[in-house]
Amino acid sequence: MHDPAAITAQLTANLNGIRQRILAACQRVSRAESEVRLVAVTKYAAWPWVESLALQHSDFGENRPQQLAERQPLLPQIRWHLIGQLQRNKVRMAVQHAQMIHSVDSLKLLEAIADAACRENCRPELLLQVNASFEAAKSGFHPDALPELWPQVLQAARGLPIVGLMTMAAETDNPEETRPTFRQLRLLRDALQNRPDTIAAGVQLHELSMGMSGDFEPAIEEGATLVRLGTAVFQNLERD
Ligand SMILES: *Cc1c(COP(=O)(O)O)cnc(C)c1O
Repeated sequence: MHDPAAITAQLTANLNGIRQRILAACQRVSRAESEVRLVAVTKYAAWPWVESLALQHSDFGENRPQQLAERQPLLPQIRWHLIGQLQRNKVRMAVQHAQMIHSVDSLKLLEAIADAACRENCRPELLLQVNASFEAAKSGFHPDALPELWPQVLQAARGLPIVGLMTMAAETDNPEETRPTFRQLRLLRDALQNRPDTIAAGVQLHELSMGMSGDFEPAIEEGATLVRLGTAVFQNLERD
C-alpha cells in the first residue's frame, strides 16, 4: 500500500474499531474510557505506516532498542514506549529514547537503568515486568518474589519513577483464559501500593500495562491502563 490517503484511511478505521472495543470493555465494568491508553506497537510496521499513524496517535511502542533509537528521533513528538526485553548493554539507548520502559524484569536491569539514566540525565518512567502466567520462557519478576524484593526495588530505582506493573498473558485461542493472569497483576499492584514503604517512598503504581491484540478486552475489564496493540492497529495494511 503506497497511497498515503489509503494508509491514513485504513489506520483511522482500525483505530476507530479499537476505540469502540475499548469503550465497550470499559462500560462493562464501569470504568472511564480515559483511564485506558492505547500504545500502538510499531515493531512490525513499515515506516510509511508509522509516519501516517503519527498524524493521529501519540503513544508508540517498540520492542527492540535499536529500532526505537532509529525511529524516535524521526518522530520526537511521539511518546515512545520500550516494551521488549532489554539487554544491559542496550540500556543507554533505552533511556535516551524511551519515555516509558515496560520491561524492567530484574533488579540488576533496574540498577543498570538507574545508572544510565543518571549519567544521561534522563528520567524514563518504569514498569516492572511480572511473569504472572508462570511460563518458563517468559522473563519478569516472579509474582511471589516481588513483595520480598520490594525494598531492594525501591532502593535500586534511585528516585526514578516506578509507575506500575506490566505482564504478558499466555497465548491462547480463548481470551477468557487470560483473565486470571491480569487479575493477579492487579491484586499484586494493589498489595504493593498499600505497603508503608511504598507510601513513604512516594511511589504511585497507577499503571497496569496488560493486554495485546488478542486479549485486551479482558485486560481492560481487569484494570489495564495501558494496552499494547500491534496487529489490531495495522490490520488490513499490505506490505508492498
Ligand atoms: C508485539 C508485542 C505486543 C503487541 O502484540 P499484538 O498481538 O500484535 O498486538 C505487545 N506487547 C509486547 C511485549 C510485544 O512484544
